Amino acid sequence: MRISLRKCVKIAICLFISVFSIILYFHDNFEKSFKTQGQSFGQKQHGVVGPVDQHSDTELSRKQRNAMSVETIKDDEKEKTHKVLPRLKSKNSTTEIDDIFIAVKATKKYHNRRLKLLLDTWIPQAREETYIFTDGDDKLDVPDGHLINTNCSNTHNRIALSCKMAVEYDFFMFTGKRWFCHLDDDTYLNVPGLLKLLQSYNHTDDWYLGRPSLRHPIEVMKRSNPEQKIAFWFATGGAGFCISRSLALKMMPHASGGRFMTTSDMIRLPDDCTVGFIINNLLQKELTVIDRFHSHLEALFLIHNLKEQLTFSYSDNNIVHIDGFSKNQDPTRLYSLHCMLFPTADICDTLRKGHTVA
Ligand code: UDP
Ligand code: MN
Repeated sequence: MRISLRKCVKIAICLFISVFSIILYFHDNFEKSFKTQGQSFGQKQHGVVGPVDQHSDTELSRKQRNAMSVETIKDDEKEKTHKVLPRLKSKNSTTEIDDIFIAVKATKKYHNRRLKLLLDTWIPQAREETYIFTDGDDKLDVPDGHLINTNCSNTHNRIALSCKMAVEYDFFMFTGKRWFCHLDDDTYLNVPGLLKLLQSYNHTDDWYLGRPSLRHPIEVMKRSNPEQKIAFWFATGGAGFCISRSLALKMMPHASGGRFMTTSDMIRLPDDCTVGFIINNLLQKELTVIDRFHSHLEALFLIHNLKEQLTFSYSDNNIVHIDGFSKNQDPTRLYSLHCMLFPTADICDTLRKGHTVA
């Protein structure tokens, strides 16, 4: 069969148009699907714990760009745009109180005995930032969702304590905040002091801030090889400690989604030791000693310049030495400390009138 040159050209043009249309069609759809994936990646990034979190730096700068582009939009459009775009703080902006996640480990049997003091004193200064991780439901004066029943056992053993810490950690990762700070339910926190401390460190670097109660690294035997000892530093949970988000992200392979318990089982040590093991031994990151954190494992009556300190706990016969309310009104001395720091706080008025709150 003979085909004329004209026909050949016609066929060629038709073919070209068809192929070009097909390419255009697929290109368009590819771009649409790519954009959709990009958006959902960004949304996931905002909260869900998962391997995606490891890309947070790139994601953050992507969101920063979004936030910056809002500034170039006309005023009347701003309102509308703000509702659509996530309002993320710039990486370089100062850390504020709402950048801090404060986890308080609690147990239901001490809700009245211990949490009351915290709720009367420092928690109102960081009401939205503080979450209580406990082992039973209760009606406490905290915002909705801030009392978390971990369903962990209500004992003081390693498994129960590590179980609560694991939940604290996962919850923090979900929030996307800059700093994870852990406290026990017998710990007083100087909220403005903590904020000032964290403002002097960069959350995008790896920081483990706390105070060890031992003068030497703790040593454990390797389960797989009992001859071999592992030594590492850990910050005592009872004095409180803080971890930057950057470091918390690196802890994920050993801590997230139940892996904290597995790690704790490996060394057979409780929650705070497990945190130290992950950071100082597995990740080879230093503990930065903050000697203004205090637990009742040190002699509290020896501490002076109380206003400079950041945390205190107490035990039956180990309390800070401070003038103030009567022993009967304030057996732990922590109300007196709070009212020395913040004399105008409501609770101080009540105590000054001679009422007992504890
Ligand atoms: N805790 C607990 N279950 C218990 C006893 C204590 O979860 O049965 C928690 C308690 O709420 C606190 C921490 O463990 O946050 C430390 O408890 P405690 O101060 O009694 O002991 P410490 O370890 O400081 O000697
Ligand atoms: Mn304690």
